Amino acid sequence: GVVTRFAPSPTGFLHIGGARTALFNWLYARHHGGTFLLRIEDTDRARSTDEAIAAILDGMRWLDLDWDGDEVYQFARAARHAEVANAMLESGHAYRCYATPEELSALREEQRAAKQPMRYDGRWRDRSAADAPAGAPFVIRLKAPREGETVIEDKVQGRVVVQNAELDDMVLLRSDGTPTYMLAVVVDDHDMGVTHVIRGDDHLNNAFRQLGIIRAMNWDAPIYAHIPLIHGADGAKLSKRHGALGVDAYRDEMGLLSEAVSNYLLRLGWGHGDDEIISRAQAVEWFDIDAVGKSPSRFDLKKLENLNGHYIREADDARLAAAVRPRVEALIGFAIGHEGETLLAQAMASMKPRAKNLNELAEGALFLFEKRPLNLDEKAATLLEGEAKALLKGVSDALAGAAEWSVPTLEEAVRQVAEDAGLGLGKIAQPLRAALTGRSTSPGIFDVLMLLGRNESLARIADRAA
Ligand code: GLU
Repeated sequence: GVVTRFAPSPTGFLHIGGARTALFNWLYARHHGGTFLLRIEDTDRARSTDEAIAAILDGMRWLDLDWDGDEVYQFARAARHAEVANAMLESGHAYRCYATPEELSALREEQRAAKQPMRYDGRWRDRSAADAPAGAPFVIRLKAPREGETVIEDKVQGRVVVQNAELDDMVLLRSDGTPTYMLAVVVDDHDMGVTHVIRGDDHLNNAFRQLGIIRAMNWDAPIYAHIPLIHGADGAKLSKRHGALGVDAYRDEMGLLSEAVSNYLLRLGWGHGDDEIISRAQAVEWFDIDAVGKSPSRFDLKKLENLNGHYIREADDARLAAAVRPRVEALIGFAIGHEGETLLAQAMASMKPRAKNLNELAEGALFLFEKRPLNLDEKAATLLEGEAKALLKGVSDALAGAAEWSVPTLEEAVRQVAEDAGLGLGKIAQPLRAALTGRSTSPGIFDVLMLLGRNESLARIADRAA
């Protein structure tokens, strides 16, 4: 069966490109009823951190990308990597190289001066270890073929060919016995039974080197699919400036829903006709690597926000309220409690249609919890000047006299005030909204009255009426 893997290096957050790679691998495995594995490539001890590992696992869980079995930690497999390097030494596919760092930098200097590509010249390829001083440190290098070519039939890039003469004898095991990244990846993919390697096309060059190891070990090569990187809207490679943030920033700072981010990532480089909204279940049914395009996709924050607006409208009110509550509390500076969350859930129906993210929902809901007398924004203050005070007095009396606090009766009461004053409903609704919310925009005015309730509504109006 199909076995895919996501193999992040925990040197930073789970960024948007990595998340897309994870999603494609996950989808490919799920589509084929296969296995999706997670390998943490933590061999770079200086740059790998526990926080980055936690952020990756957290981001994967948030995006609902469950991996099969326990995650594999690459560093823990160092002995196995060394074992393979030594097996290659034994079989004659690798050799000990005793070249000193000084020698190698002199070689690089020569090549630089001669404007030649910088690569190891194989000076220990055919020499015997007996030539080296006793106990001298050595690395183990691959004895790569020098004639012929290496071909990859990449699922995305098509047929890609490299002349073997261009690939030098790379290091497999360093002098301290630690494996290089190239060796570790190949050994782990083999031992984990990986059948399909789906990753960013910045790894395409590595694939040719990795194949050298695979051939030397007489292992089966995986099927490769190198997907184009994500570019910013301006066509340049995605950087922080473009929104190349950690997945956690999309969740925490931007207030996006997981299914919106996931749907957006899916559409970055893969498509199913003109479909924009694609559920996870449909994606599993439809996803195939053959439909991944060869040209880089462009990151479009507007599109992502629009998708998020869609998923907010679809989302359950109680779920939204739970997600919005901590944002409201952070903005307002006090806890709103379980009661507050219930009120938030009631408010969602009238707020969802216009919100693009959870921050907007929180902002828009603040008026529910603010203490009297409300702070007025500039427009609201203007709306409450002049004759508004007298109008509000009339509204207040009418609302206070309403037989019950329900939308139809409140509507009837306000309509009557408007009629008596010879004004359109909007002329009344504007100062009323300003008095009730301190703003010039809010959910529908009758929704606001219902959410605030009789006492709070009348008190807020009284604060502004004369
Ligand atoms: N650890 C590599 C990275 O984070 C990926 C290796 C691979 O997918 O083969 O870029």
